Amino acid sequence: MNTAAAQEFLHKHQVRYVLAQFVDIHGAAKAKAVPVEHLDMVLGDGAGFAGFALWGFGMGPQGPDYMAVGDLATLSLIPWMPGYARIVCNGFVRRKPYPYCSRVALKAQLDRLAARGMTLYTGIEPEFMLLARGADGRLAPCDASDALDKPCYDYKGLSRAATFLDKMVSSLRSVDIDVYQIDHEDANGQFEVNFTYADAMRSADNFTFVKMAASEIARQCGMIASFMPKPFSNRTGSGAHFHVSVGDSQTKNLFYDPNDANGLALSKMAYHFLGGILQHARALTAVCAPTVNSYKRLVVGRALSGATWAPAYIAYGDNNRTACVRIPGGRLEFRLPDAGCNPYLVTAALVAAGLDGIDRKLDPGKPNNSNLYECSPAQLAAEGIRLLPQNLLEAVTELERDEVICAALGEELSREFIELKRMEWTEYARHVSDWETNRYLEFF
Ligand code: GLU
Ligand code: MG
Ligand code: MG
Repeated sequence: MNTAAAQEFLHKHQVRYVLAQFVDIHGAAKAKAVPVEHLDMVLGDGAGFAGFALWGFGMGPQGPDYMAVGDLATLSLIPWMPGYARIVCNGFVRRKPYPYCSRVALKAQLDRLAARGMTLYTGIEPEFMLLARGADGRLAPCDASDALDKPCYDYKGLSRAATFLDKMVSSLRSVDIDVYQIDHEDANGQFEVNFTYADAMRSADNFTFVKMAASEIARQCGMIASFMPKPFSNRTGSGAHFHVSVGDSQTKNLFYDPNDANGLALSKMAYHFLGGILQHARALTAVCAPTVNSYKRLVVGRALSGATWAPAYIAYGDNNRTACVRIPGGRLEFRLPDAGCNPYLVTAALVAAGLDGIDRKLDPGKPNNSNLYECSPAQLAAEGIRLLPQNLLEAVTELERDEVICAALGEELSREFIELKRMEWTEYARHVSDWETNRYLEFF
């Protein structure tokens, strides 16, 4: 689309404002509304932001403006905001791509693939919870009263959210985000929305748009959509699995090989990419599970009330939902990321891990198809299966040690991420929780 075609499109749909949108280091959408008459500015110098007001932009209040420059290929309507469109922006400062911008960091990694004639495809599977405020003012799952024990695929849960789901799916489909299924997940009020995979940058843009859609449409329906990784301790958390494959100009899927001796239809290249993911998994965790709350999703051992389906160990398996990577056949499903992740940073880190695996011909070993939640520490040790970091501090320390992943995020962005996440950990560690007072106040 060129500028004239963009103006015609906006005019045809009676758009009055374009949201110049990007994400902060946490993956949260940020925007300015720009009247369509000034679209040229967004496409030229960009819309200006005070970088200091944003998380993770490495600037003081005296710093230069952060300029968000629109990528015309991303222009779309915002169906739940009549009269508005969205354009995804890349960050520039003093006319240079700004290394603290997540999209700039991802572009650099995708360019490394492009230099080898390769394109990364991802399909991201967001899970989230729909919550409503009860008479007591507390937020609870929108369908808490029914099917308490096994809400997964529950018909009642799905039907009660039908209005919200239809508004959301129609909105996404109308902007070419091809939703092909929705299900009620394993926690009350928890849903997963699946849409067709795309090249990795588009998928990250789409995932961000899905979060924007879910939260606003839920609000319009009197509810809250939460992408918090683990809102309730006795229920499954919300993941954001990444399905991953690589193509080139001749072949859409270089990860596919029907003659794979393991019967997983994976090529040698896919196994090396997978070897890289497993090799760097402990550092990847900081980016994929980026909050203190994330580690309550990645629980070790058998859960008291039902399984969590989130990984705790570094392994891969056929259809193994207890492993970090599942192989649905001809592609990888990376199950570590949670719904609170920044998809641009996760993808950038994934490319770096995968390319390292390809370059060093890393071997992921044989698939593991046991229920890892039920394996004893001795069994895991005998098979050489390592544990994922158990908290944000451990994960951040692993990230700091991993030169490959830090280099992929860029020196500035990785430093900023590590510092912010350490501060988040410190704040959390200093907080005295209800659990502690209940347990210890009168205990001794
Ligand atoms: N909710 C699970 C997670 O946190 C995933 C369930 C599924 O396999 O869809 O990753
Ligand atoms: Mg799911
Ligand atoms: Mg999945």
